[in-house]
Amino acid sequence: MTAKTSSQEVNRFLDAQIAEWPQASGNFEALKGVKVKDLDVDGMKIKVQFNPARIVSSAAKVDAKSLKERKCFLCAENRPAVQRGIDWGEYYTILINPFPIFPRHLTIPDKRHTDQLISGRIADMIALASELDEYTVFYNGPKCGASAPDHMHFQAGNSDFLTIAETLEDAELKTIATDGEATLAVEDTLPLKVFVIDTDNAEAGQRLFDRLYAAMPVPEGEREPMMNILCYATPAGVRLVVIPRKRHRPSFYGTEGDDTMLLSPASVDMGGVFITPLEKDFEKIAADIVRRIYDELCLTTDEIDDIASKIK
Ligand SMILES: [Zn+2]
Repeated sequence: MTAKTSSQEVNRFLDAQIAEWPQASGNFEALKGVKVKDLDVDGMKIKVQFNPARIVSSAAKVDAKSLKERKCFLCAENRPAVQRGIDWGEYYTILINPFPIFPRHLTIPDKRHTDQLISGRIADMIALASELDEYTVFYNGPKCGASAPDHMHFQAGNSDFLTIAETLEDAELKTIATDGEATLAVEDTLPLKVFVIDTDNAEAGQRLFDRLYAAMPVPEGEREPMMNILCYATPAGVRLVVIPRKRHRPSFYGTEGDDTMLLSPASVDMGGVFITPLEKDFEKIAADIVRRIYDELCLTTDEIDDIASKIK
C-alpha cells in the first residue's frame, strides 16, 4: 500500500524540521548567502554555487574500507534524534538533507541498509516525482557522486533551481523507442548527452528504462551501468533524464597543487548547477572547464548512439 504525499506536505515538514534542528537551520540559512555565478556552455545555461558546507560530500571517502569504518548516516538508528521522517511507499522515508544545495533539499533513503542500485526502482522514482511535483527527484550511482553507496537513497530538490529542464525544452529530442504513450528519446548534440523518458505511467517508464539499462555498458567490477538520473513532473506527466557516465571524478580532482579542483560532479551538476566547496575553484571554473568535465565524465555522441542502436 503506497502512502501518498505532496509538495505541500513535504514543504511544511521541511519548514518544521528547520525550525527545530539548529544544525540544519544554520546550513539552510547559510545557503541564502552563498555566491552564485552563471556560465553559458555552448548554449547550456549553467550555474555555479560556492558552497563550503558541501565539502563533507565532495571530499567524501567512498572506498570499501572507509564505508565499513563509519556509521551509516542513512540508517534510522544512527540518525540524530531531531531528524524525523515521512514514510513513503513500502520502503522509503522522506528526510530533509541537513547539508543542502537546494533551498528545499530532501534525502529519501530505503528503510533497509541495502546497496545503492537503481534496478527495479524507476517506477518508485516516477511515482515520487509525480507526487512531489515541485521537486526534481534524483539518483546518483554508487560511482557517480553518491556519498552513501552502501545505502540506497534518492534525493530531491526544488525543480526551479536546476537548469536542465529548460535546456531540454529547447533541445531536439530524437525518439528511439516507445511503450504505449511513453517515449524514450536521445539528445546527442548538447555538451551533455542524455536519454529522456517521457511518461504519465510509472510502469511504462520502468519498462522503457529497463530497455535502456540493458543496452548500457557495465564497467568491469561494477554492478550497474554508471549514471545519474533526474526525474521531474511536466504538464504531460513525468520526465526522466538519464545521464550515462564513464568516470567518477575528473582527472584534475583533488586538493593538492594549483591544477587540481575539488569537484565531484553528481546529478545536480549534470542538472546544470555546479557545486564548488572551495572558493578558489568557484573563481576559476569557466565554460571550458565545465565542457572538459562533461567530456571526461560523460559519453560522446558516438558512445550514446551506440547505446541507442542496441535498444531492443
Ligand atoms: Zn545504512
